[in-house]
Amino acid sequence: MKSSFEYDLLIIGGGISACVFASNYLKNNITKKVALIEFGRSLGGRSSTRISRRFRGWKLNHGAPNLNISNNNNNLLLKKYIHELLEKNFIKIDDSESISLGNESNLDIIQKSEFSRGVNYLPLSSMSKLSQQIIYSNNLKGKIDFYFETLIVDLIFKYNQWRLISKKGDIFKSKYLVCSSNLLLHKRSLEVLKTNYIPLRKAIPENNDKKIDLLINLLDKQSFIPRMTFLIYTNKNYRYKDFYPKKQRYFYLNNDLENKYNFERVIFQLQDNGKIGIVIHTKKIDFINSINSNDENLFKQKIFKNFNELFEGNSSVNKLSCNEVISIMKWRASQPSGYAIPLSLQFSKKYRIGFCGDWFGGEGFGRIESSILSALMLVKKFKT
Ligand SMILES: Cc1cc2nc3c(=O)[nH]c(=O)nc-3n(C[C@H](O)[C@H](O)[C@H](O)COP(=O)(O)OP(=O)(O)OC[C@H]3O[C@@H](n4cnc5c(N)ncnc54)[C@H](O)[C@@H]3O)c2cc1C
Repeated sequence: MKSSFEYDLLIIGGGISACVFASNYLKNNITKKVALIEFGRSLGGRSSTRISRRFRGWKLNHGAPNLNISNNNNNLLLKKYIHELLEKNFIKIDDSESISLGNESNLDIIQKSEFSRGVNYLPLSSMSKLSQQIIYSNNLKGKIDFYFETLIVDLIFKYNQWRLISKKGDIFKSKYLVCSSNLLLHKRSLEVLKTNYIPLRKAIPENNDKKIDLLINLLDKQSFIPRMTFLIYTNKNYRYKDFYPKKQRYFYLNNDLENKYNFERVIFQLQDNGKIGIVIHTKKIDFINSINSNDENLFKQKIFKNFNELFEGNSSVNKLSCNEVISIMKWRASQPSGYAIPLSLQFSKKYRIGFCGDWFGGEGFGRIESSILSALMLVKKFKT
């Protein structure tokens, strides 16, 4: 049976941006009836942790493994919030070893990866847990309703009220709406949701709100980087050669090595059970596509072969025995690229709709930094 729900504010998405927004907004608006709707099974979005039913005890950060804050503009709001997360012991400075492979010859000209610029932070638990801790901070547990495994496929703005339609046909009504993902605003919705219109464009037709028109037009210039992550559950005896004790260890490949091995970075993640998980990231399109045409087992053997060749003779990393288990995660839209949306387009007063996420510019476009900053900025705009 289809259901109908009514709220003051609905938030679409349960990634880190939505969690930062919800916890900071609710802190001062405790009486509001708020719900968060997320397609996935839990919080975290692209900053999440794979907790496998098959491999008990393993927690692998399979999207963003940590967060790095450059704060080039010394934004005080961002600075204060990161300080707050540190004070609450949700994050700590990430002092893990970070090695650029292929750059030994001239250390001065190492091009730092966009994922390691600025100050790096690690959640004290896992990336998924960080989002949970953020949303439940400020004593907000029980103050917000969650709808997981719920995909919003259509938006209607009628009689001054938002109506969100889920894939299963449930209706969610609210006075205010926040979209922390741009899926319902971007042309990729046509392919992903199999519709013949962009939901927000249909809800607010052209020439009704200049900001919304500009937002949708600019988003047309934004594209997305597909990625794959390979999660390797190593055998129980797999260890480092050098007894490295820290939680994570990052290897970044320079362009030449990335072209040769198809790996962008390799992240070792120490598990609570003492085992070492390995997550390999790739954004090489040909490599990603080849999994569709190849036998999956052959593809996995290729990953082992490339890994072992890459770390041949390395003083800290042992080879894999090739019978470790690999699980593959495909990210159709791992990161926005191209045009970063200006923060000035975050909120439409007329339609009582706000937006946040890593698709905004300002600081850290395409990274957690932008997700956090845009969420903090949106809270300020909602108060106006
Ligand atoms: C493999 C990988 C590696 C990365 N590495 C780094 C890194 O090292 N450092 C870094 O800073 N960043 C990294 N990133 C980027 C980082 O993960 C993102 O910038 C950040 O997590 C985005 O958070 P968000 O809340 O803005 O969006 P998301 O996490 O995408 O949250 C949006 C949520 O909305 C949900 N949703 C969307 N549409 C709907 C709908 N219609 N109905 C219901 N739910 C919906 C989605 O399921 C999603 O959970 C990486 C990303 C990937 C995939």
